[in-house]
Amino acid sequence: MIDNSPLTEETVTVVGGGVGGLAAACTLADAGADVTVLERTDSLGGVTNRLELGEFTFDTGPSWYLMPGTFERFFDHFDRSVADYYELTRLDPQYRVFYKDGDRLDIEPDLDRIRAVFESYKAGAADALDDYLAEAERTYEVGMEQFVYEDRARFRDLLDPSILRAAPALTHLGSMQDYVAGYFDEPKLQQLLQYTLVFLGGSPHNTPSLYNLMTHVDFQLGVYYPEGGMYSLVEALSALGRELGVSYRTGAEVTGLDPVDGGLRVATTGASHVADSVVANANPAHVERDLLDADQHGRDPGYWEGQTYGPSALLLYLGVEGEVDPLAHHSLVFPTDWDAHFERIFEAPGWPEDPAYYLSVASQTDGAVAPDGHHAVVVLVPLAPGLDDGPERRAAFRDRILADLAENTGVDLRDRIVAEQSVCVSDFTDRYRTPGGTALGLAHTLDQTGPLRPSHHAPGVDGLYYAGAFTSPGVGLPMALISGEHAAEALARDAGRSRLDRLVPNL
Ligand SMILES: Cc1cc2nc3c(=O)[nH]c(=O)nc-3n(C[C@H](O)[C@H](O)[C@H](O)COP(=O)(O)OP(=O)(O)OC[C@H]3O[C@@H](n4cnc5c(N)ncnc54)[C@H](O)[C@@H]3O)c2cc1C
Repeated sequence: MIDNSPLTEETVTVVGGGVGGLAAACTLADAGADVTVLERTDSLGGVTNRLELGEFTFDTGPSWYLMPGTFERFFDHFDRSVADYYELTRLDPQYRVFYKDGDRLDIEPDLDRIRAVFESYKAGAADALDDYLAEAERTYEVGMEQFVYEDRARFRDLLDPSILRAAPALTHLGSMQDYVAGYFDEPKLQQLLQYTLVFLGGSPHNTPSLYNLMTHVDFQLGVYYPEGGMYSLVEALSALGRELGVSYRTGAEVTGLDPVDGGLRVATTGASHVADSVVANANPAHVERDLLDADQHGRDPGYWEGQTYGPSALLLYLGVEGEVDPLAHHSLVFPTDWDAHFERIFEAPGWPEDPAYYLSVASQTDGAVAPDGHHAVVVLVPLAPGLDDGPERRAAFRDRILADLAENTGVDLRDRIVAEQSVCVSDFTDRYRTPGGTALGLAHTLDQTGPLRPSHHAPGVDGLYYAGAFTSPGVGLPMALISGEHAAEALARDAGRSRLDRLVPNL
């Protein structure tokens, strides 16, 4: 939070109304800045959005409300609580997994029951899980305290005695695949400990085992559903911002940023204005390639082409007549060997032959999102960014997924879909301006973690800051929220320094 640097004389434009931008706006307005959020689409939230098709309501992007403490901590900064805006329900089961060999299991919100699932696959696996979880919790505690809540975006921020004390918990630099295989040789158990890497935009082969912490998040901190759906978070953040004086403009695309004396000129499809500072929640690749002139920023021109991006996705939003049991609120469908699908995302981009995918049926928890006797089903298939998703390809793949779903879960939706819309790779590029249509941003590979992610300071452009999943700490709602706070704090630190320079020029 911003403690000692009131921003009462500062005008700030936030470019993009995703969760990172909304969090930055609240933090800055609370410190006294005059904040306006400009969002190019017609609604706030970015990928965290709401789609209404007739009487069906869908969360368009995130559907797993994880790490509830991070949201509580955020609202607490403003003397509010999550419960002031929405109630949370802990899901039971948290999720159901359908393996394509006909096997099926539930992960319930009870560690003893999860231990029993592990033990049922291999004698001794429950004890191995205890060891795994103890380490995951240790990594989580250190990671959150030292690297997530604390902004250590520069290497010099690592020169801190507390980092040295934390070092033993941070030696997990090998791949998650090797790390998990050191505990469990049963492929299905390995998948249970690795599927969360997709939340980070990575695969078991390219994500460092630091992210064992995700199993602590999953098995111990739990999976929740906010009353009204995930969009309740966006409504809460925008309501909080309004209470703090933030102005919002939707349908306002920023088309250029130009550093000028004392600030940045912000050009929009309508007019242009000068702001003292800008926080770009629009991703930095778009900002540096499309909004700034090439010679105005200090990033290597090839930088964005050389990065590893998290998956894009095919998303099907389906209003379905009749029951969809045994699909749970969250269900995962995994081939027993999923390496080929990850290869199709990261190494040899193409449409997967035997896809792993995810289904969200919020209507299993929340009757308000579908009419009586119906369900709101979202199917999400991770895909390589940059894939050509022309209408025929997309339609053919959609049919394959629905056939696969019927075969592997017994739930045949094909003759009872009464409302439908889809989103695929090119929609992410068009709507959110992401490179190759990545849905998640920069993957959490070792060389794109911590201070190796783009920092909150735009290189070479005074007064321009970045907030959102492309920066640190990274991908996911809790991280986007925290990145907004960090970007606001970076701005306040710089504003404080320049005020001091004006007062005492030769300090
Ligand atoms: C399909 C999907 C499923 C996910 N599932 C989960 C999940 O279950 N749980 C979880 O925690 N996380 C999940 N995530 C990740 C999480 O949603 C994101 O990390 C987070 O919402 C990103 O927020 P952001 O603020 O960085 O960016 P965004 O949401 O991308 O917001 C950026 C905003 O900038 C706007 N913008 C871009 N260019 C301009 C411009 N020139 N002018 C004005 N505005 C502009 C865009 O329109 C957009 O609104 C999921 C993401 C996706 C896509």
